[in-house]
Amino acid sequence: MTIDVLCLRPEADFERSGALPPAELKVVYRSPEDADVPTLMKIARALIIPAVGPKLPVALFEGTSVKFVQVTGAGLDRLDLLMMKRLGISVANVSGGSNGAVTEYVVTAASVLLRRLVWADSEIRAGNYSVFRARMIADNLAGLDGLVVGIVGFGAIGAAVGEAFHMRGCRVCYYDPAPRNPNAARAFSAKSLQLAELIRIADVVTLHVPLLPSTQGLIGARELAAMKAGAVLIQASRGGIVDESALAEALESGHLAGAAIDVYSTEPPASSNPLLSLRGDAARRILFTPHIAGVTRQSTRFLLDSAWRNVERVLIQNESPLDLVC
Ligand code: NAD
Repeated sequence: MTIDVLCLRPEADFERSGALPPAELKVVYRSPEDADVPTLMKIARALIIPAVGPKLPVALFEGTSVKFVQVTGAGLDRLDLLMMKRLGISVANVSGGSNGAVTEYVVTAASVLLRRLVWADSEIRAGNYSVFRARMIADNLAGLDGLVVGIVGFGAIGAAVGEAFHMRGCRVCYYDPAPRNPNAARAFSAKSLQLAELIRIADVVTLHVPLLPSTQGLIGARELAAMKAGAVLIQASRGGIVDESALAEALESGHLAGAAIDVYSTEPPASSNPLLSLRGDAARRILFTPHIAGVTRQSTRFLLDSAWRNVERVLIQNESPLDLVC
């Protein structure tokens, strides 16, 4: 028996989105934990995986018939790409599919943190309407226009985020040793800076790098201490890029005005995660979300449709996939 596609994403995700596989393909849906996954890998031609989840062991791919892996998002950190190449398995992601969703998240989160919108909600519920309103006015809270926004990682998402802040009157700078599209930077006069300089001048620092050995711990105690007093940090890239203990300290001390955290060093975050232990004002400076910045009805439809189109290109049309990574 052979199957065309082993899909490690629930069938319900595709049905809910209306993104259905090509009728010609025989597709089997499984959870990664299912006992028959290694057996199915030996009779499948292609594998579909979600971008978010634990790393997949290399052993899963050894001696299999799978020749193509399609990720239904941008992040590639679940796969050992070097090993995939060695095993002759090509990999594609869907680049740019969640640009709009992540951009909307980042701009909204920046406003929510700078203007303390969620914090105010909890103070009002606690009966502190007048005191907190007076405090918000006294603290002279900023809106977005005229602020400096620093983007770390100027790829597909970073450039879209930069454009959105530019449209809101912000001055945009970025740090990226190899920006994907330098023309995007020119289109809205985004300035290329070294990381240390970006961190020193930005009112909003937003992270859009992949998780790589070179980005692990990129934002640690030294970088957080060097950020402008009252700046906000937005972490919607991948867990592991920010040192969570150092960030907890920067929020506790009040040096940073806030942080939006969509991704965590372990997901779900451990109960010992220092960010979850913050109390009082420090806790209210954080906006937590469950790795959802890129997930909207629209982005999911686009990502899943694009994934099927790519599988169709490879398995039915014998063409190269779009967004081929290796
Ligand atoms: P991309 O590959 O287009 O861009 C990544 C950019 O980071 C590239 O331009 C690269 O040159 C740059 N980069 C790599 N190493 C760097 C370093 N050390 N310092 C600075 N820049 C560096 O990827 P993308 O589509 O823009 O996505 C970025 C990341 O966002 C993904 O890898 C994924 O981890 C994350 N993501 C998160 C969500 C979410 O829901 N939270 C959704 C989608 C993507």
